[in-house]
Amino acid sequence: MSVPVVGILAVQGDVEAHAAALGRVGADARPVLREKDLDGLAALILPGGESTTIAKGLDRLGLWEPLRAFARAGQPVLGTCAGAILLAREVENHPVPTLGLLDCRAARNAYGTQVDSFAAPVDPDAAEGLEGLRCVFIRAPELRDPGPGVSILARVEKRPVLVRQGSLLAATFHPELTQDPRIHALLLA
Ligand code: GLN
Repeated sequence: MSVPVVGILAVQGDVEAHAAALGRVGADARPVLREKDLDGLAALILPGGESTTIAKGLDRLGLWEPLRAFARAGQPVLGTCAGAILLAREVENHPVPTLGLLDCRAARNAYGTQVDSFAAPVDPDAAEGLEGLRCVFIRAPELRDPGPGVSILARVEKRPVLVRQGSLLAATFHPELTQDPRIHALLLA
């Protein structure tokens, strides 16, 4: 069987840690910086980092439309933290252009400045297979006002942290910063 190749948008952010996490679920990582890099990918990750910086990179590289086309073709995409912001239909504060693919509003830095980083387990009502998942939040956004096509797979203290819409997954936390392979495995599944 051939090893799936998963692209990681490599403009800025947490690219190396995602590559290591993909290795733990038996996938190869390919940095994506040009449209051509999307060819033949099994899935794509939009990593955490700084959404403003990543958006500027997408302008510079002309990648907005190629990324939209990739997702609209039904191929799996995981956005984590800043990547989740970029997937959203709109951003309600500190506006940044987005791909507009995920029917949620993103609120940037929604956990305030004093607790900009913390770790917490998902609530007990998490989807099957995600029980006890520990989430690392770094200046995390919140996904609000989900549309009817969006299912909430996990919450932390009642706030959504992992959502799915068709083949899109968005996590407001950093699954690449723990050893738990379940979110990367979910992308490949
Ligand atoms: N606060 C960042 C932003 O708004 C996201 C933080 C992260 O990706 N860890 O873009």
